[in-house]
Amino acid sequence: MAKLDYLAKQVEQLKADGVYRVLPINEGPCENRITLQGKSIVNLSANNYLGFATHPRVIEASMNAIKTYGVGAGSVRTIVGNQDLLVELEELIALFKHEEAVTVFQSGLNCNIGVIQAITDKGDLIISDELNHASIIDGVRLSKADRAVYKHVDMADLEQILQEKRSMYRNVLIITDGVFSMDGDLAPLDQIVKLANKFDCLTYVDDAHGSGVLGENGRGTVDHFGLHGQIDFIVGTLSKAIGVVGGYVCSKQIAKDWLLHRARPLLFSTAIPPSSIAAIKESFTLLMETTEHTTRLWENANYFKRHMKELGFDIGRSQTPITPVMIGSEAKTMQFSKELLKRGVFVSGIVFPTVAKGKGRLRVMISASHTLEDLDFALQAFAQVGLELGVRS
Ligand SMILES: *Cc1c(COP(=O)(O)O)cnc(C)c1O
Repeated sequence: MAKLDYLAKQVEQLKADGVYRVLPINEGPCENRITLQGKSIVNLSANNYLGFATHPRVIEASMNAIKTYGVGAGSVRTIVGNQDLLVELEELIALFKHEEAVTVFQSGLNCNIGVIQAITDKGDLIISDELNHASIIDGVRLSKADRAVYKHVDMADLEQILQEKRSMYRNVLIITDGVFSMDGDLAPLDQIVKLANKFDCLTYVDDAHGSGVLGENGRGTVDHFGLHGQIDFIVGTLSKAIGVVGGYVCSKQIAKDWLLHRARPLLFSTAIPPSSIAAIKESFTLLMETTEHTTRLWENANYFKRHMKELGFDIGRSQTPITPVMIGSEAKTMQFSKELLKRGVFVSGIVFPTVAKGKGRLRVMISASHTLEDLDFALQAFAQVGLELGVRS
């Protein structure tokens, strides 16, 4: 018996279930079209909402920073990795988001894993939406606090948990995605804030898919609901609409002071390289200068979604450019994705364990960088494959 036979068996099972995947190799930049096996393919699966990953000004800012600062931060932030660019970036994000203080992490996942653990302890309770992102779930697992889960966006369920349990704990932290990444629907932040005030709870919103997308100039879901200053922790990513890599949390200065002493990714993992920090700063500058990119993103999204509905596809409860195309079985979802690729369109299938069993879907991510031609080409491919596989009504 080879020692790794247990893994071989598990991989065999993935193949038997039709969900084994070979990672596609993108042979160039992440844009509206990507190159797979030498072919130009319409890319409907990136989180690069605004096309900033290849924006000329963002690229130039990054190259200039390499010339001045080199390629690596050289240390964790708490030693000598806290470069002036990073401090300037935190101030810029705070200004943009209309929040008191910002702490930047190496990724959104990293931020959730660091912050949730640092701000909760034994004797506290964390209440989480059942569809929260995996990085929140992992962050909650690392905390010593107790946990409870409420039904997806179900405020009656949340209130019942609060009524039952609030008095048993020191702090209660209500935690939710701003935009849910698999369905593209919004958390009812206005109602969550009301309940948090009524029951004296802390609030935590992970707005990875809302920042750069919703609100004035892409200020995010909190801005969309007009709730500035009323959410205790607002997490964002620098890897999606911002187009680079990293994560951040907006909070009061006192919370930042604590995070700089206790958030483990800041203490034990090297800071983001200066070239990325400079690129991120330029992306935020672009967002503050013009609504051109966010406007185009929404125009593209509304166009694509309207036509998908007309074709008879079920696009779930999306309220954002994230467009789930509900398929159902795991195998059929993967098959649909393969058929689209044959026709020159890349859309990854999302199946268990990322979503529940039987809730397989293709998740279309619209970007400001898509042309009308790209979108029409993709719609045509969807129309054909949908008929072939009996998915369209
Ligand atoms: C993508 C995502 C993350 C992770 O962000 P990265 O910067 O890619 O690590 C965290 N939370 C949510 C809700 C996300 O959608």
